[in-house]
Order: sequence, then structure tokens, then C-alpha cells
Amino acid sequence: MDKNLISIDNHVFIKPEYLNHPYVSGNKLRKLKYNLIAAKKREKKVLLTFGGAFSNHIAAVAYAGKEQGFQTIGIIRGDELKNVKPLNATLSFSKTCGMSFKFVSRAHYRNRMSQDFIAQLEEEFGEFFLIPEGGTNALAVKGCEEILEDTDLNYDYVCCSVGTGGTISGLINSSSTNQKIIGFPALKGDFLREEITKFVSKSNWELIDDYHFGGYAKINDDLIQFINRFKDNHKVPLDPIYTGKMMYGIYDLISRGFFKKGSKILAIHTGGLQGIAGMNVKLKQQNKPLIV
Ligand SMILES: *Cc1c(COP(=O)(O)O)cnc(C)c1O
Repeated sequence: MDKNLISIDNHVFIKPEYLNHPYVSGNKLRKLKYNLIAAKKREKKVLLTFGGAFSNHIAAVAYAGKEQGFQTIGIIRGDELKNVKPLNATLSFSKTCGMSFKFVSRAHYRNRMSQDFIAQLEEEFGEFFLIPEGGTNALAVKGCEEILEDTDLNYDYVCCSVGTGGTISGLINSSSTNQKIIGFPALKGDFLREEITKFVSKSNWELIDDYHFGGYAKINDDLIQFINRFKDNHKVPLDPIYTGKMMYGIYDLISRGFFKKGSKILAIHTGGLQGIAGMNVKLKQQNKPLIV
């Protein structure tokens, strides 16, 4: 076994991308790598992107921008947040990194990729390098092709959580055709298969739609209990939005005999741990047990 993997039992192994950075999701930094190289090449000074108030992507852009000398602007969904003080953990981290925010209504936010909206933003902020919500584009996929190393190609299954599809696309591209890549969407995403097909040409992959728990950032007591038990048993923290749902799905599928007998499963732990604080605030308001 690769010394960098965490062995959970004799057939499930975790690739700990969450250890790449104490706060920022491992896969988000990989998605930014070639985008920032392109931004520099085009001599852009400002990065502009979109996200929700708890977004791992927003935190990653703020952090990477600071590291590499870009100004950063976050267009945040929800204009009601404008007057909410103090900022939540994600936004206050991003602000500390130097990001400035523009809060827009949900209706406005829906048009974020329209030419009109982008033109308005250019008028307001001047020139910028645009990174889409969630960070997925061809350059992001290229960055995620660097997640799997040669020693990872011996695993029968590679599992990952799916949001916009960039990460799994990179994994598929660098996988061996003997491997099966299994994606666990963290949201109800009928668009995802089509999106992934834009970036990949192999067909050794599958999405399992049964573990989104009702949609993006939706959770239940069962999931929280699973996350807390998993950390207790294996000393591996999981986040409630992405990796917790994936790992819950993997264990449920194992119990149903989904995986070939004797096969080895590699689960990519993409990070997302910065989102735990925000979820705990919500759980506390509902008098529910917290993520420990
Ligand atoms: C964003 C994110 C994902 C999903 O990645 P996509 O490339 O959008 O599919 C998975 N896990 C974590 C922790 C993330 O932050």
C-alpha cells in the first residue's frame, strides 16, 4: 500500500487530499492550479468567482489568491447576507485573505453566467479573470488529473464525491481502464452526467444518485451519527456536504454487496472540513447533536 493512504480496513483505503491544507479543500486547490497559471499568463490582477456563503470554493479562491498575489472578488448568493454580522466562518476566513464580496439576490445569482451580468460586473470592477462557480472548467479538470498517482492505479474502484463534476472528470481521465470510478453526487444533479461527458472520453465510470440526502447541504441525523462514529473509529474527519455522504454511500453499498468480492476501494477524501463549522451553527439552532 502507498504510505500516503489511510487504511480503514483491508479493502477500503482513503487518499487524504484533506491533508493538503488545514482549511482549504484539497480538490479546490487542484482545480485552481492551472487557472491561476492562465490568469498570470494573461496578466490579470483580479480573480472573480461565485459561490454560496458556505462555499469551499470561495474559501479556496480567497486563499490561493492571497498566496499568489491576486486581488479576489466573491459574488455571493443571497443579498440578505449583506447585513448579517458577524460573517460566518467561511466568509470571515475569505475576508481575512483579502477577498471583497458582492452579495446578490438569488434571482440575480441565477443569471450569473449571462453576458449582461458579466458586463455589469466588468463595469463595476474592471478587468478580471473569471472562475466559474465550483471552479469547474477544462483547466480545473487538468489539475484534478494529478490526484491519482501510479500506485493508485491498482485499486479496483476509485470513489469520490461529486458537486459540479470537475474532480471526477480528472480522476476518470487519469484512471486505468481496468478501474471503475464511482461518483456520489452531493446534490440532485440530473445535469451531471452530461457535464462530465464534456470532459472525458472513457466510459469506466458511474454516478450513484442514492446518497445526496435530499439535495445540496441537506442532511439527517443518520448522516451526522455516521460522520461522528467514523471519526471516532478511524480518526478521519468527514464533512457533512461532500465526503460524509460519499463514505456513507460506500459503506451502504458494501453492505448490499455492490462491490466485487475481494476488491480494493480507494476513496478520495477531497476535504471540505471548513464547512463543518457552518453546519454546526445550523444544527445548534435546531437543537440537534453537533458534528464533533
Ligand atoms: C467541491 C467539492 C467537491 C466536488 O467537486 P466537483 O469538482 O465540484 O465535483 C467534493 N468534495 C469537496 C470537499 C468539495 O469541496
